[in-house]
Amino acid sequence: MNAFTEPYFQNDEAARAKLESVRWPNGPVCGRCGESERRYATKRPGRYRCGNPACRKDFTVTTGTVMESSHIPLHKWLMAFYLLSASKKGMSSHQLMRSLGVTYKSAWFLSHRVREAMRAGGLVPPMGGEGGIVEADETYFGKAEVQRPRRAKLPPPTKGGKVGPAGKRAIVSLVERGGSVRSFHVAVADKVTVQKIIADNISRESRLHTDESRLYVGADQIFASHETVKHSVKEYVRGDVHTNSAEGFFSIFKRGMRGIYQHCGEKHLHRYLAEYDFRYNHRQKLGYSDMGRALAAIRGAEGKRLTYRKPDEARV
Ligand SMILES: [Zn+2]
Repeated sequence: MNAFTEPYFQNDEAARAKLESVRWPNGPVCGRCGESERRYATKRPGRYRCGNPACRKDFTVTTGTVMESSHIPLHKWLMAFYLLSASKKGMSSHQLMRSLGVTYKSAWFLSHRVREAMRAGGLVPPMGGEGGIVEADETYFGKAEVQRPRRAKLPPPTKGGKVGPAGKRAIVSLVERGGSVRSFHVAVADKVTVQKIIADNISRESRLHTDESRLYVGADQIFASHETVKHSVKEYVRGDVHTNSAEGFFSIFKRGMRGIYQHCGEKHLHRYLAEYDFRYNHRQKLGYSDMGRALAAIRGAEGKRLTYRKPDEARV
């Protein structure tokens, strides 16, 4: 069955009802002050008045989300959430423009806001834990646009024993074995940067698996254990020690980026990483359907508006 025959992909009213049921399973909640008990329906469908005396403002289901103040009909928003969640490699703004019948500018606006909703926000718990395995690896993708700091005195970064490419964008990803991924676009993948990322994101009780890169030397002082495979001598798996999950994630990311988002500006790279991280973290193997993944993205739309919107951005 084609999922797009659902009424919430067809008309604004059904989409609003769907969004309300997803965001407000226990009834409307004011998106400005969080009031969940006192509110009144207004004459305009979908608009509520907050009953908290300190607030008293009107709100809708999009208040306080990436969808707020948008003139794009809600069923198109839902469709954008669905398409970017369901497609394995993502969807370009041109494809989205054709699928939704909106302008290119609107499609671009929609896709970046959906990506923002997909970004993991707030305090996230450390990865791994006792007995848990976390793989760390770095990769290089796309030409760097930003001038890198010169560190002539330091040896060049290594990748699998080889020298890492200069002038390319560096990405560090942490993957919990059988679980989730966290990716970071870094200016330089040097030891200080990489070790801060692993120390900030991985539980101390974890087993850390990496290749033999010197970026991770000393990590055994931080974690329960640090085991490495020697890619330089073609050792990729030793017992349960490997970085195949991280390599697999990089391969999905790179194939997708080459096929769909060829012209991703470096300042947007972290958003595309968030998109690929999100799909990986809500993959089928972890129990998510295409629609389930889209709903998870919609739930992530809350509380992101203020951190994202810039004052000079036009309303679309
Ligand atoms: Zn309120």
